[in-house]
Amino acid sequence: MTNSVTGAAIDGWLRAFARLVAEHEDELTRLDAAIGDADHGANMNRGLTAAAVALDELAAGDPPPAAGPRLTKVGMTLISTVGGAAGPLFGTFFLRMGNALAEQETPTALAAALRAGLAGVVQRGKAEAGDKTMYDALAPAVAAVETALAAGGSLADALAAASKAAEDGCAATVPLVARKGRASYLGERSVGHQDPGATTVSLFFRAALDSGVAG
Ligand SMILES: [Mg+2]
Repeated sequence: MTNSVTGAAIDGWLRAFARLVAEHEDELTRLDAAIGDADHGANMNRGLTAAAVALDELAAGDPPPAAGPRLTKVGMTLISTVGGAAGPLFGTFFLRMGNALAEQETPTALAAALRAGLAGVVQRGKAEAGDKTMYDALAPAVAAVETALAAGGSLADALAAASKAAEDGCAATVPLVARKGRASYLGERSVGHQDPGATTVSLFFRAALDSGVAG
């Protein structure tokens, strides 16, 4: 699966994401406790645990589904099981990604699907660069995938670049004043804390490297 985005590859990526969020649940909760309502870690872990069960059901199908339907299923599961802002936002990301990817398996199609997922997040959350939200990790990561592929890079190159861009974007949220979501109620007091949603985005791209989707 070195340069192909198969259903099995996406399945591995999504499960690696669920594992990483479970491992980092306490950290995500601490980050949300500082500038939100301390439920992000538990919410995302609950949603992704349910998503893994949904993936099990899909994987048992014959023939096993392509990547797109698996992403769509995870998106619907997150929307229906996670409350607050994170469920609808991450759910919309995966739902739009899955609908855009459909049965396609190329890295270019994956890049377009990531772009569609980002557009869904923007449409729902109305966040812009520098608002101290998941957008600040997601937008640079999506751009990094596109840039790496346009330069002739492999899927592995693109996902490594995305992971780095997401981590940098996440770290860059620390000095920002939150302008969207619950953290924005804190105004200047949100400065000095890393955004939990951006942190979860960085775990998603790190999961790609852990899962073998990148070859
Ligand atoms: Mg919260």
